[in-house]
Amino acid sequence: MEVLIPNNPIEVNLATSDDSLLQLYHERWRHQDKRHVKSLLNHELNIHVNIQDELSEACIYGKAHRLSLGSRNNCSSPGELIFADVCGPFDNTFRRFQYFVVFKDQFTKFRCVFFLKQKSDVASAFLEFLAYATNLGHIVKEVISDNGGEFDNKEVRMFLKKKGVVQRFTAPYTPE
Ligand SMILES: [Zn+2]
Repeated sequence: MEVLIPNNPIEVNLATSDDSLLQLYHERWRHQDKRHVKSLLNHELNIHVNIQDELSEACIYGKAHRLSLGSRNNCSSPGELIFADVCGPFDNTFRRFQYFVVFKDQFTKFRCVFFLKQKSDVASAFLEFLAYATNLGHIVKEVISDNGGEFDNKEVRMFLKKKGVVQRFTAPYTPE
């Protein structure tokens, strides 16, 4: 048995053109590849549509991904790679020390902390750290920090250059 005249009118979806129909089904079917949507519309509903643009804006944001940043554990000796970072300013300061800078050795994970009254004291803490490492018989080869002005300035650049230490900066907005 078959109902010839349904009681309720059948719902229909209207699209202004076949191309926007493709976009509509692309979005309904969870942003599937438009070539797949086109093929389904063609085979299942016998609707022929053209693919105008390959990507919708939601696809660009939603399907974006990046490659892994990889591992940095390729050091073979202490001092080979040092990470430096400044923390602060802190509200309740200890003897007017508002900041601290930490130097972390990648090979041993050993950390050195220096307390600072101002950010510009990073340069002298750097010198102290390098002297300390040298006295322990280690050679600091490379230092990585963020792009903060306390690291990226002429004074720090000059003495690291003199000591033969390579200075590198992390990519902006990439805490890894
Ligand atoms: Zn999409």
